[in-house]
Amino acid sequence: MKRSVDLSEISDGRLYRSSDLVKLDTGGCTGCSACCHQMESTIVLDPYDVWRMYTMRAMTLEDLLDGHASLTVVDGLVLPVLSMTGEYEACTFLDGNGRCSIHDARPGICRLFPLGRIYEGGDFRYFLQTKECGRGKAKVRIRRWLDTPDLPLYEKYILDWHGFLEQMEHLLSEEDDTLRKAACIYILQVFYRVRWDPEREFYPQYHERMDAARSHFGFA
Ligand code: SF4
Ligand code: SF4
Repeated sequence: MKRSVDLSEISDGRLYRSSDLVKLDTGGCTGCSACCHQMESTIVLDPYDVWRMYTMRAMTLEDLLDGHASLTVVDGLVLPVLSMTGEYEACTFLDGNGRCSIHDARPGICRLFPLGRIYEGGDFRYFLQTKECGRGKAKVRIRRWLDTPDLPLYEKYILDWHGFLEQMEHLLSEEDDTLRKAACIYILQVFYRVRWDPEREFYPQYHERMDAARSHFGFA
């Protein structure tokens, strides 16, 4: 999800790579679940998140949409986002002890927080959202914080997915409602609804689907 903000107001003003040490250590988040509440529609699920929930929790997109997530317009496309529900606007995966019940399978945005990403010139860097989390005094290497296997492959995928979404946003801004709707349905179908093969790695499957999608939309 794109945000229009002044980085100097929300961060320490520095941009990082995954090899950098950053003041991120939240002490296991003991006694805090602030970033699992009132997140509105900001925890957008990408195909890798859905693959993880399928392979690690046997939950399909339809299962997620049955109370845990909803389809929302994000930068011109319809994508699944985690729902915040109840009096305290809490994520439905938060358990009675204020802990994440799907911690090992939690979405990429949850693994990233309180870091953010800024995209520029076909690349991205990480930044620390200093206003979003009151903890984080000891330094942790970003690659460790992200808790994501095969991080170089993941970062390549993140860049590719972001680039595709940007291409789609640009393409659809010039199309009528009927074509926009058809494109949104196609993306949801190809990247979210069609089951992933749990016997195969995610990335080759993703790139096969992405090749088909780029060809479908006439991207080089
Ligand atoms: S706000 Fe910070 S300390 Fe609290 S749960 Fe989120 S990351 Fe952990
Ligand atoms: S998935 Fe887990 S970490 Fe993410 S918002 Fe929900 S409870 Fe919090």
